[in-house]
Amino acid sequence: MVRSDDDTWDLASSVGATATMVAAGRAVVSQDPDGLINDPFAAPLVRAVGIEALTMMADGKFDIEKVLPESAARVRANIDEMAVRTKFFDDYFMDATGRGVGQAVILASGLDSRAYRLPWPDGTVVYEIDQPDVIEFKTRTLADLGAEPTCERRTVSIDLRDDWPAVLRAAGFDPSAPTAWCAEGLLIYLPPEAQDKLFDDIHHLSAPGSTVATEFVPALKDFDPEKARQATETLTRMGVDIDMPSLIYHGERHSASDYLETKGWQMDSAARATLFTRYGLPAPGHDDDDPLGEIIYISGTLR
Ligand code: SAM
Repeated sequence: MVRSDDDTWDLASSVGATATMVAAGRAVVSQDPDGLINDPFAAPLVRAVGIEALTMMADGKFDIEKVLPESAARVRANIDEMAVRTKFFDDYFMDATGRGVGQAVILASGLDSRAYRLPWPDGTVVYEIDQPDVIEFKTRTLADLGAEPTCERRTVSIDLRDDWPAVLRAAGFDPSAPTAWCAEGLLIYLPPEAQDKLFDDIHHLSAPGSTVATEFVPALKDFDPEKARQATETLTRMGVDIDMPSLIYHGERHSASDYLETKGWQMDSAARATLFTRYGLPAPGHDDDDPLGEIIYISGTLR
């Protein structure tokens, strides 16, 4: 599968399937009553997409230790990472809106159910942006489940490489009020120039006091698709037809944190191990075969 400037997908194909994959991870970590997060919508959403291996995983019926013992440690580490990552962005939104930021924008919302599960302060407006099939599927599936948003949820169906700010404004977004922005699991799927444009647009739409959170992968510049393909073979052996290396844009790109700092944002960074420790999980060891390597979680405020 080769990426193109105007490629599209649903939740079972191309980049869309990665949203189903991470939701399956959230479903697994939500099975632990003492776990870091609880996303009760993850499993039913994954089930509704219908990728068999991910449904089995979400339903706790895929015993990785038994089926693929040699890959179990990596799969477990990826699933732990979903717990940590979800908690990071949950806390980020609750902190920003708790301090009075009244609108939030979830860029590349995928099967993220925050608009339905977080205790947003009264009156918070949450915009979700993703490709049309993705937005339509989640909205319909959650409605069929009887789920109700816990905020005022507004959807924006558009590709983030197109003129999404115009459509966001048309949906009622107020650029004169502070916003909490989040781009979770997105940047690696954007070409470098689209990443810069995304942050240019965010900056132009942000009133002082706005906040942003995302994560970036410093090793993308040295990313080797063939080496990564060997490492991600686990997915194929699990029966999941996602060729991650062909979906990722690699090569040189700006560090999201540095780029935003040059525009006047005050940024904080936390490496993966720092977040694991912060949330009481053992930090994962270094893995030479990890195709992406380090992940840096960043958040910041426009002064
Ligand atoms: N943020 C969600 C989460 O963490 O559960 C989804 C992450 S998923 C790995 C990647 C998401 O990025 C998908 O939902 C996909 O549709 C979205 N995405 C990637 N490139 C996009 C683009 N150019 N326009 C709109 N959405 C995009």
